[in-house]
Amino acid sequence: MTQVQNILIKNPFAVMTGLRGPRARAGAVDIRIVNGRIAEMAEDLQAQPGERVIDARHCVVYPGWINTHHHLFQNLLKAVPEGLNQDLQGWLASVPYPRLNRFTPQLAKIAAKLGMVELLLSGVTTCADHHYLYHAHGTTETGDLLFDMADDFGLRFVLCRGGALESASAHPGFSKTALQPETLEQMVGDLERLKSRYHQDTPDAMRRVVVAPTTPTFSLPPTLLRELAHTARGMGLRLHTHLSETQNYVNFCREKYNCLPVEFVAEHEWLGPDVWFAHAVHMQPGEIRMLAQTGTGVSHCPVSNARLGSGVAPIPQMYEAGVPISLGVDGVASNESGSMVGEVNTAWLIHRAEQGASATTAEDVIHWGTAGGAQVLGLGAVGTLEIGQAADLVIYGLDHPRFFGFHDIAVAPVVAGEPIAVKYSLVGGRVVVDDGVIPGLDVQQMRAEAWEGVQQMMKVDD
Ligand SMILES: [Zn+2]
Repeated sequence: MTQVQNILIKNPFAVMTGLRGPRARAGAVDIRIVNGRIAEMAEDLQAQPGERVIDARHCVVYPGWINTHHHLFQNLLKAVPEGLNQDLQGWLASVPYPRLNRFTPQLAKIAAKLGMVELLLSGVTTCADHHYLYHAHGTTETGDLLFDMADDFGLRFVLCRGGALESASAHPGFSKTALQPETLEQMVGDLERLKSRYHQDTPDAMRRVVVAPTTPTFSLPPTLLRELAHTARGMGLRLHTHLSETQNYVNFCREKYNCLPVEFVAEHEWLGPDVWFAHAVHMQPGEIRMLAQTGTGVSHCPVSNARLGSGVAPIPQMYEAGVPISLGVDGVASNESGSMVGEVNTAWLIHRAEQGASATTAEDVIHWGTAGGAQVLGLGAVGTLEIGQAADLVIYGLDHPRFFGFHDIAVAPVVAGEPIAVKYSLVGGRVVVDDGVIPGLDVQQMRAEAWEGVQQMMKVDD
């Protein structure tokens, strides 16, 4: 990993701040970074002795994207044929579940590397990974190696420690894996170990641990759901899980517990500003009010929701109501792209297709993907470009015919989407993408490892 340098970013076309409202745009300002933090933002800053100067002509500068929901291990499971035209349940049963047991630490490492590279090359500087390769007789090593990998790349990393405490007979496909769920003692023991080894409390933490059973209605008995919430809060850890991704999910909760999913998690103390849910596609107005009143956040994953035919989350309504909104790429076995630029572009478009052209603005979507992510993760020192903030930012090069002819070039990454090139990316003042390249990355080796990994994944456990 490169060292922290003092840096001056000169002459960008435009700087977006990640803030809401009139402060969303900072204009064509230079940015000075001292000791990993933003020290100055103004026009015509002059280089100081010892500073590295980054020429940002033909570029726009954004806060680094904060991806709040991912499953990095799925990077060896893109476009698995038997899952391409399946809904969530059919896809779970045919793509990830039959292969959970195949992920040795070596294969998990290959997948994580692919995923992190793809995120970095789309401008992500913080990744929260919902990692659920845990079972009673498995290794916990696959969680640890994610921290090591993120460290190698210089990414800010949040491990949402998943897993199940109950075999979910109602969950089609899970029984196919023949994996035994962990005990509460196993899960909590590993959380304590992870916390003491990796977790940082500060708003500019490079490493965080989150308590994240895979699905609240399937993965554990309700009494343990509440107990886990108490445990997490006692340890000072946040809570994350999947919620209301499909109509089937809502129907299951209604039939089994006679209530809506947000009511169910409320009853088990899973609401609050220390909780965020992935998806929240099928939501009643009363549930949206409950999330807003408690400050509970959402990770919006529009591409995965579209790919699996799950629906379109009512994000404009949640945002209007005051629910903290963030964006996640979700696992690429149900997305095929780990690009946050693809995600923000889709988030900008999909609500307009459904609700009309006033449903989203480019500034709102940038806010969700940056400051919104920082809010749900409790990382207040990142997500916005302001003086005093940690220097987590991405510089997109727009010197390409695709971007000629723009009037408002500042919004190009959001409204034009992929392909787009990250010229530079910084995390806490460290250069993690340098002139379009990840320092030290051997792409040929990564290609060979990925192909080997895919061969392994073609074998399925019955
Ligand atoms: Zn997910």
